[in-house]
Amino acid sequence: MNDTPERLGDMPDDEFRRYGYQLVDWIADYFGNIETFPVISQVEPGWLTEKLPSSAPEEGEDFADVIADVDELILPAVTHWNHPNFHGLFSTSTSAVGVFGEMLAAAFDMKAMLWRTSPASTELEAVTLDWLRQMVGLPAEFEGIIYDTASVSTMHAIAAARERAGLNIRELGMSGRGDLPLMRVYCSEHVHSSIDKSVITLGLGLRSLRKIECNERFEMIPERLAAAIDEDLAAGYVPLCVIPTVGTTSSTSIDPVDAVADICEKYGIWLHVDAAYAGPTAIIPEMRSLFKGWERADSIVMNPHKWLFTPFDLSILYCKDLDQLKQAFSLVPEYLKTTEEVRNGMDYGIQLGRRFRALKLWFVMRYFGREGLIERLREHIRLANLFASWVEQSSDWEMMAPVPFGLVCFRAAPENVADPDGLNERIMTELNASGEAYLSHTKLNGKFTLRLSVGSIRVEERHIDKVWRLLNEHLERLH
Ligand code: PLP
Repeated sequence: MNDTPERLGDMPDDEFRRYGYQLVDWIADYFGNIETFPVISQVEPGWLTEKLPSSAPEEGEDFADVIADVDELILPAVTHWNHPNFHGLFSTSTSAVGVFGEMLAAAFDMKAMLWRTSPASTELEAVTLDWLRQMVGLPAEFEGIIYDTASVSTMHAIAAARERAGLNIRELGMSGRGDLPLMRVYCSEHVHSSIDKSVITLGLGLRSLRKIECNERFEMIPERLAAAIDEDLAAGYVPLCVIPTVGTTSSTSIDPVDAVADICEKYGIWLHVDAAYAGPTAIIPEMRSLFKGWERADSIVMNPHKWLFTPFDLSILYCKDLDQLKQAFSLVPEYLKTTEEVRNGMDYGIQLGRRFRALKLWFVMRYFGREGLIERLREHIRLANLFASWVEQSSDWEMMAPVPFGLVCFRAAPENVADPDGLNERIMTELNASGEAYLSHTKLNGKFTLRLSVGSIRVEERHIDKVWRLLNEHLERLH
């Protein structure tokens, strides 16, 4: 084909084809047999490191040997997020078409910094995010930008809020400035730790984060928020941003976004809604009311990689005025100057090159369609509520929080138990160690609480049924 010496260049086409087919077969078998694997990896820390050579091979190896090592070394050390009994943290999983999206994106290997370097990625991102915006019922003024994770989306939103506050931090920074007041970011006690990390990263410091008390349903109390802002203003502080969550991490509680929006409007504070987990469920018409007020936000984060069958990573930041982000982040050196009047992805964040992530989301939306996505999410919510109904009907178990989405917070509460926290922890540890299912925990009102998340594209009623049976078996044995 060309006169490149054999030892140079890439893997020959025929070899790529052969291994490519083999790997697609491998993945199809993996998905087909996913239930035969233990949900969480059974290896001990260091197991894989010990089995790997301490330095890279001098000479290239036969790729067949590499694939064999995937089976022998990698697979045992995989925790299977795609397993339908993965109910820990938030149950997230990829669809098969999502895998195709990753494959093609890797093949194109575009770095979407400028429109010119990646027209397909730049334009497909805008179009796909507008499709999703319509699906979740947000007004047309919202435009989206894709980042890797919600942690990064939120950090960008806070940075834009800080820029809008007019303290000229982009230019002057924060160090060595005696003229800067304390800046505040407000959220509930149940906020995700990514908000804490954002204020650390942005140099605002944890001191800037004011966590507002919640009611018995773990929802931010708006009156407490207003009082906190008044107090801070009286002290000369600058409120930058309020971050209510729709679907908090611990319990999926829903902060009263509409009431928080009233407060933000009154004081002119940036409103950023964290809907990283629950956002995609706004596609379902009967769920839309849970998002009341989010259309009044300045920015909203939602993660298709959590609950829209899109492989990690893909997080969306929707902004009412994307230019605010641009003002915070755009910086164009000579070598990146272009003449086209276009959107250049590099202007909206700290990254220069950006992955072609929109492709996998486009595949997912086209393959399942709005109806297909609604049906799947609806079924997950039904299964979570079904499980909750079993908990409610049993005298050995109790519910710990409402179930607005696909997460059940509950715990064993049999009569005469001396150490309920210890009992629940043992049940969870033993169930997880068995490899049959994976649950995680949180603490609600100081009590050790089990969390069962339903969100896998492969989950069926029999999987939920199995967890209920196993939990009761463990309870019987341990109590
Ligand atoms: N916000 C909420 C409500 C979450 O539940 C999570 C993760 O579970 C995050 C943000 C952070 O998500 P990511 O891993 O995409 O940074």
